[in-house]
Amino acid sequence: MLKIRRAKLEQFFVKHGFDALLVSNLPNIRYLCGFSGSEGVLLLTRESAWLLCDSRYTTQAAAETVDTEIRQFSEKHDAVSNLLDELKLDRIGFESAHITVAAFMELSAKLKGRQMVPVGADLDQIRANKDQDEIVRLAAVARIASDSLQAVIGMVRPGIGEADIARELEFEMRRRGADGRSFDFIVASGQRGAMPHGRASDKIVASGELVTIDYGAVMDGYCSDETVTVAAGQPDLRCREIYDITLEAHDRAISAVRPGISCRELDAVARDFIKERGYGEYFGHGLGHGVGLEIHEKPVVSPRSETIIEEGMVFTIEPGIYIPGFGGVRIEDTITVTSDGCKLLTQVPKTLMMN
Ligand code: ZN
Ligand code: ZN
Repeated sequence: MLKIRRAKLEQFFVKHGFDALLVSNLPNIRYLCGFSGSEGVLLLTRESAWLLCDSRYTTQAAAETVDTEIRQFSEKHDAVSNLLDELKLDRIGFESAHITVAAFMELSAKLKGRQMVPVGADLDQIRANKDQDEIVRLAAVARIASDSLQAVIGMVRPGIGEADIARELEFEMRRRGADGRSFDFIVASGQRGAMPHGRASDKIVASGELVTIDYGAVMDGYCSDETVTVAAGQPDLRCREIYDITLEAHDRAISAVRPGISCRELDAVARDFIKERGYGEYFGHGLGHGVGLEIHEKPVVSPRSETIIEEGMVFTIEPGIYIPGFGGVRIEDTITVTSDGCKLLTQVPKTLMMN
């Protein structure tokens, strides 16, 4: 598995002509060698890999990694420099999008005259296409999160607090084997639903309100992401209208997913429909984003994204309508692209639930 992942780096060795690549973004390190600690740096040549970590992590690193030599350091950049001396390497690629200015200055001082080649966030792109092992993990964590939502959905009634829903949901996810939540849950009821990122507050849900719940679990490093909008009591006609439009936009986009279409075109399927129905100005964010070792990763599914969709990509479809002073709806599923369409990883049915 790691061989196939590391082979994806060949394009950067060719494009930039470096001798070795210094990987500092932790999800990329995990992807390329298996290490899940919070501090370390991975040096890769075309043939070999070295993980440099401090004494807190050497035992863990030895247990988690394969085809990787572990080196313990007391000062990270000195250790990188010593290793490069030992290997006699001069031209080093580094993840310029994932290093602070201070760390870069320190590193360049230590690397004394070696050429440092910035690769921006290019490496993040290699995680957009998931392998079978990743899809199995992503399906498992999405299933746990969806089952947990279905276990607590009955409590979304007038009188419950948003924060109570969030707490119970997280409890259910952990009870089912999740390591935790993949982000701070959004539970936004009534007018708060107009905030796409309204985190669970102490607000009490009132009768007739829509409640948007955006949630996800994390397990073995992999994240899930799903949004349901539920009615507490009978919603009014306008609430139903924006729900139906959002759902139709969501369904149309899911039917349009296939290899070969661009992210921009896919975004337009949902966006044009919402616009046609008169709510275009209330859908401000992109249609979706990749999900994997990070909750937001490549590909970006937005009006500006020219990325071509490929089999094996995993991303969300999440149209929404947010009306200030009124409320909002978002409906989100995470899908994996198949040879001729897509498969849903998240499992909660999206017809409007009324409690
Ligand atoms: Zn979400
Ligand atoms: Zn999302």
